[in-house]
Amino acid sequence: MAKIQMKTPLVEMDGDEMTRVIWKMIKDILLIPYIDLKTEYYDLGLEHRNETNDKVTVDSAEATKKYGVAVKCATITPNAARMTEYDLKEMWKSPNGTIRAILDGTVFRTPIIVKGITPYIPTWTKPITIARHAYGDVYKNTEMQVTEGSKCELVVTDKDGNERRELIHNFNGTDGIIQGIHNTDKSIASFAKSCFNYALDMKQDIWFASKDTISKKYDHRFKDIFNEIYDAEYKEKFEAMGIEYFYTLIDDAVARVIRSSGGYIWACKNYDGDVMSDMVATAYGSLAMMTSVLVSPDGVYEYEAAHGTVQRHYYKHLKGEATSTNSVATLFAWTGALKKRGELDETPELVEFAEKLEKATIKTIEEGVMTGDLYLLSNLENKKKVGTEEFLVEVNNRLVQMI
Ligand code: NAP
Ligand code: MG
Repeated sequence: MAKIQMKTPLVEMDGDEMTRVIWKMIKDILLIPYIDLKTEYYDLGLEHRNETNDKVTVDSAEATKKYGVAVKCATITPNAARMTEYDLKEMWKSPNGTIRAILDGTVFRTPIIVKGITPYIPTWTKPITIARHAYGDVYKNTEMQVTEGSKCELVVTDKDGNERRELIHNFNGTDGIIQGIHNTDKSIASFAKSCFNYALDMKQDIWFASKDTISKKYDHRFKDIFNEIYDAEYKEKFEAMGIEYFYTLIDDAVARVIRSSGGYIWACKNYDGDVMSDMVATAYGSLAMMTSVLVSPDGVYEYEAAHGTVQRHYYKHLKGEATSTNSVATLFAWTGALKKRGELDETPELVEFAEKLEKATIKTIEEGVMTGDLYLLSNLENKKKVGTEEFLVEVNNRLVQMI
């Protein structure tokens, strides 16, 4: 059979440890035999980041801007232990942070649902995608401890030197704490656009929530910007597609999410997204079944798994011991990127292939063949635990029959 041709290369960002091992297996077993795989390759493995003074990360993000679609392997974010382990020149920043800053994107995380693994919330039969605004609020705050008798004010000096002041609190009879946070109209608007674009992409409703009844200026500004952009640029497109933008208060949203059956995107402010993404991921069962895509407001996409480099399994692998690491999220990062590339290039055979590969993966698990993490969660009677590579071979056995 002739290999599927690609018109435009994917930006390929290789990574670290066990996910780097899986990366190569996925390419060798499931992609290269079927696709004339064109990629522009960037090695974001920690050694190479260190050799290039992290320039490779910046280059890979620039290439993503140029080509529009990237697929990324999990990478180590260095800490003190990694400084010695890899003999690093510097404690390089998180590649995801660097890439996100260059692409100005929003991260959307979606669970992959399979029969046999029941979410802790059993009514969640469809995935809930969480979009987290990744700028500002409490993550870029200025805070102080203050002593009894302090008068604390919010002071703003505009560009003409005019001052505005508002009392925060007079600390009478007690010490206390204060905090200054901010966000920008520009960042909120980027977030809103990424969310609306992704909703159109996924043909799903989008929910957004804040606490605008209490925070009448700060949170209300989020609500207003979302509404303005929606009305001006997206309302007609949403109506034509039959999807909805739904705004409500954050506490009401939480209650509705729990009662829902899923199947929508939930856009969250920074802190809400931090908390809710962990809750949602846990409720669906496994971090190894969670995909993640960074979408920029001008429509650039970077796909990856939500989990890290699975270090503990890698050390076993290095010792020559058998591993049973779940490759599904990494595999879906590839299929997500291939589908998007195929859509943009109008190569439906590439889209179809990626869809079949996803189906073959889910079929494998639903027929009882799975890695150790899922084996512990699955309620299938005929379940069988397989090794890292064996799982991919099993997926290929099913893929072959679909093609
Ligand atoms: P992790 O790699 O996500 O792994 C934590 C644990 O979760 C593993 O030890 C394993 O549990 C389980 N797990 C995660 N993914 C799995 C998979 N695919 N299959 C089976 N089990 C899986 O997180 P970490 O150990 O905290 O971080 C390791 C490195 O990854 C760090 O250097 C961190 O900087 C980096 N990281 C990168 C990204 C990214 O690039 N997006 C994200 C997070 C972390 P058991 O050991 O119990 O089997
Ligand atoms: Mg968190």
